[in-house]
Amino acid sequence: MDNAAPSAITIFMTFDTDILIAGGGLNGTTLALALSSAGFHVTLVDPQPKATRAANDFDGRGYALSVASQRVLKALNIWPVIAEDAQPILEIKVTDGRAGEGPSPMMLAFDHAEIEEGPMGFVVEDRHLRPALLAAVDASDITQLNDCSVIGQTPDSNGITVTLSDGGLLRARLLVGCDGKASTVASRAGISRMGWQYDQTALVCAIQHERPHNATAHQFFMPPGPLAILPLTGNRASIVWTEKTARAAAIADLGDDAYLNVLRPRFGDFLGDISLAGERFSYPLGLSLAKSFIGPRVALVGDAAHAVHPIAGQGLNAGLKDVASLAEVLTDAIRLGEDIGRADVLSRYRQWRRFDTATLAIATDGFNRLFSNDNGFLRAIRDIGLGAANAIPGLRRGLIREAAGLTGDMPRLAKGQPL
Ligand SMILES: Cc1cc2nc3c(=O)[nH]c(=O)nc-3n(C[C@H](O)[C@H](O)[C@H](O)COP(=O)(O)OP(=O)(O)OC[C@H]3O[C@@H](n4cnc5c(N)ncnc54)[C@H](O)[C@@H]3O)c2cc1C
Repeated sequence: MDNAAPSAITIFMTFDTDILIAGGGLNGTTLALALSSAGFHVTLVDPQPKATRAANDFDGRGYALSVASQRVLKALNIWPVIAEDAQPILEIKVTDGRAGEGPSPMMLAFDHAEIEEGPMGFVVEDRHLRPALLAAVDASDITQLNDCSVIGQTPDSNGITVTLSDGGLLRARLLVGCDGKASTVASRAGISRMGWQYDQTALVCAIQHERPHNATAHQFFMPPGPLAILPLTGNRASIVWTEKTARAAAIADLGDDAYLNVLRPRFGDFLGDISLAGERFSYPLGLSLAKSFIGPRVALVGDAAHAVHPIAGQGLNAGLKDVASLAEVLTDAIRLGEDIGRADVLSRYRQWRRFDTATLAIATDGFNRLFSNDNGFLRAIRDIGLGAANAIPGLRRGLIREAAGLTGDMPRLAKGQPL
């Protein structure tokens, strides 16, 4: 890489890379692989050391991935590497409840037998997914710049000049911000954000339990926030347990035994005794939605565009749909001989993803407000709502297809087709 300032000729005539991706998280690496497979030269920049990102120590984090996300990972040859460690979700049970009282009798139950595609989704542990993506990046011709971040960007009519923290300058046709919910690529592009903090924190851990989970995921709605129990391979589950922030901080400070004693009455005994099976994490929760997903020679993907409440486990799934949509827009554009950084090309991506993600943000925010409280009236309404939704097969099937990511205008990769 040439660290010298680019000359006028360099600025207008040559590019170091077609697409520079800021952020090598789950979305950034997947996008890099998709674009590279379509023939683009891609440079992937991340401030974290590679060894930290590729570590596969067991830390308890798991993602509920939709069928659509699985197809994207299959198309990029990632799925065969992680398939054996992915736990299918065959049933989802949603219940309203209070700690110590057990779930309310009204229940919404989804069974994979109601759709043709097989399991509704899969739970994949971070320790399997992240190293698989990074190994695929290593095996590709993607240029990787680790221990390095994007600190500046200057767009012009032909491309964008990107300044790196090591003093280097790179010239690209397009800069993609996959740099998370505090995206500086977005702020430098003049893209503002809307959102708020929820006064809720997610306590995340993995547990070992006595009885088999039978591939069933559970969502218990408690007054402080939802408790999600996602099945992992073996007799294990990944827990996303939401509490008010002050209470969560106090619980996080407890030792392992005391922590489990607080969890047990919320969890119930339907899986027998439980014990911790990995580290514990805390994530403060908020909503952060970029007001536009594109800027001058810039596109935003994943949490950089939309970070939502994990109540529906859809954040990464939405990011992978961004990845598949942007890769398709750019691939189609280059086939037509178009400039991939031009505003009219990027606006196709914005059009495609804006409505879907705004709906997701509104839905997760609304569900969280409706379910995370102890108001008797709202409690009665939501219990009736859960019961009614359960009694209507067409509605239930629609919700299953939604959760599996099989609705809306799906990109080719999410339909299982090549780019
Ligand atoms: C408790 C919890 C549970 C969740 N469960 C689920 C689930 O079950 N299913 C699901 O689909 N989603 C889930 N999510 C959401 C999911 O974790 C996120 O949507 C996803 O990890 C976001 O990935 P990302 O790559 O967009 O961003 P990030 O993971 O934030 O990655 C951003 C990357 O950008 C890098 N970076 C930052 N600044 C710069 C810069 N200036 N230059 C270059 N690089 C930079 C960072 O080092 C980082 O590697 C959950 C989230 C939470 C909090």
